[in-house]
Amino acid sequence: MKKTELLYEGKAKKIWKTDDPNLLISEFKDSLTAFNGEKKDEQAGKGALNNKISTILFEYLESKGVPTHFVKMIDDNNMLHKAAEVIKIEVIVRNIAAGSLSRNLGLKEGKKLPFTLVEFDYKNDELGDPKLNDQHALILGLVKEQAELDYIRYMARKINRFLSEFYAQAGLKLVDFKLEFGRDANDNIILIDELSPDNFRLWDKDTNEKMDKDRFRQGLGGLLEAYEEVLKRIQNKG
Ligand code: 5GP
Repeated sequence: MKKTELLYEGKAKKIWKTDDPNLLISEFKDSLTAFNGEKKDEQAGKGALNNKISTILFEYLESKGVPTHFVKMIDDNNMLHKAAEVIKIEVIVRNIAAGSLSRNLGLKEGKKLPFTLVEFDYKNDELGDPKLNDQHALILGLVKEQAELDYIRYMARKINRFLSEFYAQAGLKLVDFKLEFGRDANDNIILIDELSPDNFRLWDKDTNEKMDKDRFRQGLGGLLEAYEEVLKRIQNKG
């Protein structure tokens, strides 16, 4: 499968068209951004780690019956996947308080939530990804009807259960994460984007050491080493 035309360049990936209109290639970049692009860096090897981690997690979720855009990993930095129309909602799933939830509501970082929280952010860099409720999403026409929002929430909770269990076997706590969904050629809602420590908070189960992009956001250093450790653990889990 050959790249034909650059469709889109984002902060962490380039998306390429291929000679098959139903298939695209994501090229994982080594660049890192945070705070809506205000903080930037480049870490050689980060793109390949995210591609490999995403591949393992997509294959695992597919094996559990979750419909995703994943087709196959092509090489270190490239993944072949189905084309999908992006639903402009960032689906945030939280098990433990951290990040903006702690900042906005004053919940102590590390507090286990009494139930899994699913939130929606509007995927819109110009507006800084504001919080959305269901009515906002419907008014903006981001989905066709309430039932689609209900389905997305249902899938996000299911994916959380699968991934939390998977990471637990690798000695990692799944604190929170962001998912994106899209519509495939048959109008089915499928999981898209990437599944990597760029959009997951992962803590070591014993020490709570941060093994994700917070190492960059908070200037802790050791980002590549942490991503390599995540890859090693999910490859050798159990
Ligand atoms: P928070 O709202 O606490 O900043 O983020 C919650 C979770 O969603 C974190 O795991 C974070 O990595 C992920 N997340 C939220 N918004 C974005 C985003 O715009 N880009 C990426 N890569 N991850 C995000």
